[in-house]
Amino acid sequence: MPPFPTALPASPRPAFPASTVLGYPRIGPRRELKRALESYWSGRSTRADLDQAGARLREQTWRRLAELGLAGLPSNTFSLYDHVLDTAVLLGAVPSRYRDAPDPYFAMARGTDGLAPLRMTKWFDTNYHYLVPEIDADTVFKLDASKPLGEVREARALGFETRPVVVGPVTFLLLGSALDRLDEVLGCYEELLGALAAEGVAWVQLDEPALVGDRTAEELAAVRAAYERLGAVAERPGLFVSSSFGDLGESLPVLAGTPVEAIGLDLVRGSVPVAGLGGKIVVAGVVSGRDVWRTSPGRALAALGALRASRVVVSTSCSLLHVPYSLADETDLEAGLRGRLAFAEEKVAEVVALADAHARGAAADAHPGDWAADASLAGDDPSVALLADDRPSIALLPVEERSPYPVRAAAQAGHLRLPPLPTTTIGSFPQTGELRAARAAVASGTLSQADYERRVEAEIERVIRVQERLGLDVLVHGEPERNDMVQYFAEHLDGFAVTRNGWVQSYGSRCTRPPILHGDVSRPAPITVRWATYAQSLATQPVKGMLTGPVTIVAWSFVRDDLPLRDVVFQVADAIRDEVRDLEAAGTSIIQVDEPALRELLPLRRAAQADYLEWAVAAYRRATSGAGDRTQIHTHLCYSDADQILAAIDGLDADVTTIESARSGARILGAVSAFGRGLGPGVYDIHSPRVPSADEVESLLGRALRALPVERVWVNPDCGLKTRTYEEVEASLANVVTATRRLRATLAT
Ligand code: GLN
Ligand code: ZN
Repeated sequence: MPPFPTALPASPRPAFPASTVLGYPRIGPRRELKRALESYWSGRSTRADLDQAGARLREQTWRRLAELGLAGLPSNTFSLYDHVLDTAVLLGAVPSRYRDAPDPYFAMARGTDGLAPLRMTKWFDTNYHYLVPEIDADTVFKLDASKPLGEVREARALGFETRPVVVGPVTFLLLGSALDRLDEVLGCYEELLGALAAEGVAWVQLDEPALVGDRTAEELAAVRAAYERLGAVAERPGLFVSSSFGDLGESLPVLAGTPVEAIGLDLVRGSVPVAGLGGKIVVAGVVSGRDVWRTSPGRALAALGALRASRVVVSTSCSLLHVPYSLADETDLEAGLRGRLAFAEEKVAEVVALADAHARGAAADAHPGDWAADASLAGDDPSVALLADDRPSIALLPVEERSPYPVRAAAQAGHLRLPPLPTTTIGSFPQTGELRAARAAVASGTLSQADYERRVEAEIERVIRVQERLGLDVLVHGEPERNDMVQYFAEHLDGFAVTRNGWVQSYGSRCTRPPILHGDVSRPAPITVRWATYAQSLATQPVKGMLTGPVTIVAWSFVRDDLPLRDVVFQVADAIRDEVRDLEAAGTSIIQVDEPALRELLPLRRAAQADYLEWAVAAYRRATSGAGDRTQIHTHLCYSDADQILAAIDGLDADVTTIESARSGARILGAVSAFGRGLGPGVYDIHSPRVPSADEVESLLGRALRALPVERVWVNPDCGLKTRTYEEVEASLANVVTATRRLRATLAT
């Protein structure tokens, strides 16, 4: 490594454009990519058709960004499935078992008949899922730059110069738990820089969001080594290292000490650094890529003005991948709310307007152009005032706690009279195409609400009968009335709005339509009681009431930013508590409050985690605190790394916790012995169409019984059954019941 950053480009490179975005949605304004993918996967179209659909979407994006006046256009932000998977392919990290598949890329993404896909997990603290790079002794890194180079050429043919975006080497290796392979991987990045320079590319963006987390001295040394080495490449584009989702903290001085020319800062989550930017260009993320609110021009211009850098570029805090395309379709939204919103297109317009205002030297309190002339933006920034710490927090209001667990457990045992190893499911049963069509028909006015409700009732009856036939102990109604476990509640609570076309990519072709939590939350009327009582009226076994927990509702929505997140979650908790009380009053003896997103909101920095877990747990307890001793409260969580927050899960104080386990090889059982109440580690991996045999289930149950006392073990699948078929579900659950009966018989002797 050279002692000094010496290499200078042969000719001065063009200045970094004044405005840009770190990335853009890619699923298509009408989810065109979803349709193209699903058509290709089902064999209705060819790979060439799919590639053409991708090219059309890229062209549309570049044209739109240019039309909106954005100066710096990114490329290689498009992906057919996932940008981390694209990076693995770029670097040659394709495990050998996929190489002979007809389409290795989608084999890694989705698996084939004989091959499981790569592991998938959430991208930092977002709800986007990426494929985890699999790097082991067999991995031979080898550059294949065809995708980024192809996109540069494609854009150029349309008349656009672009900045290719690639996941940076440190983040890529940290995601693949293989930082020890840095040397090899840097060889590929060096080669990539050379290839891009030869193509005449002026700037490249290397995304390093992992640098906003806690990094060890060794990891920081890797950051330094990586960017000194890449900076020393003789012929290369300008290096722009971007960060997102928080402050760079101790990574900033390290990065600033390397020869990279530009550093990207998240100035929405993070703050303006007081010093240490050296002579770098700062790409200032003042427009949030994580929420749907309009940017306060006063705040943004103040941040831009406070940056001490050689040049300030206006940008987004992260890729706009996490927000929907455009507000243009949202004509149903109430005008006052609509005026406060910005989706991707509107955010690009903000970036452009702010860059313009900043260039004109607009003072922090000025209102740039027509953009700020909009009344909803009128200079004052309500969020600033409301965030002040002296605002009384509803979190401090006391709630009555439930009785100690032994008291509750005794009351419930007497009331419910369940056998040992009670069997149950997580809530949803297969969602049929007919029900989805019926919901669409209600929305378009071709099916009456009464007819729709009769169909839901018929489906509930079917679900109850199936469970009775199978011999399950605690039944569910199957959730047929719910389009989605969060959206359904959002539609029935005040303070939320739902969009028509606000789709956001979750993974691959999967999109969600997060509701917008914009006002104070309350529950005008009972939401689930009607269906719960109907289901119970059909059955003699207990039927669980089924609710989504406050953290999950908030995590999977776009949330107002004028209140601390904690207070918003507590408002939702109070609404759920009303529902718990009403369910109980209507005779429901078991109520499940799901919190599958508890882990997702965990702050990236360890220093902030304890505080989060404390209020998140408090919110859950608040939501369930209305239940009497005889009412059994269940919760459900699903992620393989639950062991990391097991103490918090225990703190929820639910009487029974069902949790994903089968999918991750029952790893969690190693950590649950201290768990004080009922626990159902999943014995059936619902993510796969495979039907587990009774022997397999019995062996998993046997392991649970070695880790936990028998009176605390529940028997259930890993998660809801919504995405499976009835055929798979009935066969699997029959085996679950068989295995349970065998074990009960052994216990009895
Ligand atoms: N009750 C929900 C269901 O069964 C839980 C889903 C989830 O954990 N994501 O579908
Ligand atoms: Zn689940």
